[in-house]
Amino acid sequence: MKVPLLDLKKQYQTIKGEILESLHELIESQYFILGPHVESLEQNIAAYCRAGFATGVSSGTDALLVSLMAAGIQQGDVVITTPYTFFATVGSIARTGARVLFADIDPDTYNISPKSIEKKLAGLDDSEKASLKAIIPVHLYGQCAEMYEILQISKKYNLLIIEDAAQAIGAEYQGTRAGSIGDMGCFSFFPSKNLGAFGDGGMVTTNSEELHYKLCTLRGHGSDPKYYHKLIGGNFRLDAIQAAVISIKFKYLDKWTAARQENVNRYRELFAEEDLDGMIKLPLEKEKRHIYNQFVISLKKNRDELRQYLQEAGIGTEIYYPVPMHLQECFAYMNYKKGDFPESEYAAEHTLALPVYPELSDDQLEYVVTTIKEFYT
Ligand SMILES: *Cc1c(COP(=O)(O)O)cnc(C)c1O
Repeated sequence: MKVPLLDLKKQYQTIKGEILESLHELIESQYFILGPHVESLEQNIAAYCRAGFATGVSSGTDALLVSLMAAGIQQGDVVITTPYTFFATVGSIARTGARVLFADIDPDTYNISPKSIEKKLAGLDDSEKASLKAIIPVHLYGQCAEMYEILQISKKYNLLIIEDAAQAIGAEYQGTRAGSIGDMGCFSFFPSKNLGAFGDGGMVTTNSEELHYKLCTLRGHGSDPKYYHKLIGGNFRLDAIQAAVISIKFKYLDKWTAARQENVNRYRELFAEEDLDGMIKLPLEKEKRHIYNQFVISLKKNRDELRQYLQEAGIGTEIYYPVPMHLQECFAYMNYKKGDFPESEYAAEHTLALPVYPELSDDQLEYVVTTIKEFYT
């Protein structure tokens, strides 16, 4: 049996007619830059995230970069984040010229640990404290970070919060949706996200009218009106073709997310039956609405051998992420070393993402779990 990590062709077959019809209309109109598809998607995403505004941008990475620009982050500033994330979180901070201050993760959720942030900040001197400007919590794998504690910290140190919600559209923290908890929320429509485009795309949500204005202006070279440049922006626009595709898929997002959650429940039952407790740690579900962009397990030992074994059995897996950001070659100038963030390093060496996409069959889920059992016995 084949169980790929993700099978987007299966999903496409279910919406092919609608997508082709919408794209045909758009192409006939030749309206490719911003326009009605982008605007209606922005309204839908803002409402879905229960935020006041949403701005369509070119990718999740550009969502982060343009948010930092809108926040006025620049050289000499310090931004706090997790080393256990996709590169874009940290790369965007570095591109503004700001310094990155890492705090380690909570090993149960893989999200940044508020305790670790507090400890880090308490150790700073007054001038370093004055440089602190923002924090980017990442809602990793589709589960919100500990936002209550993070909000407390942000008040104490007067920090702006930019949520990296690229993996967490529709996730909730104590009833509040990702993207409406902090000052800005960054989303990605990369094809493998729960709501994926036919290419790149992203969105920034906010409740602030002022930030919304800045985001809209910055994504169009900072001009208002056209050819009169108030800010130094860039071309960070969401493509109308992508907006048309995302708008169709958006109607099915809750259904697809529910199917992911059902798959996870089934995985939990199957793993419980196999009694692999000592060997495998399943992800802790701490918040009410985890949207499971990824289902990531932690293996006490032989992670890489298991991955190889599963691959030979036709089962796709992935490691998110094999090298934490403080150990990346391009960040060597930050002078971090192995051992600085032990929980992130442990996660990078022991975790494995299993297929969890909505269209998986029960047979496929059973096959994944029995093959893992086979490997360990
Ligand atoms: C996917 C992702 C991004 C970047 O999104 P792109 O659309 O690929 O640029 C940023 N942060 C996290 C946590 C992501 O998973």
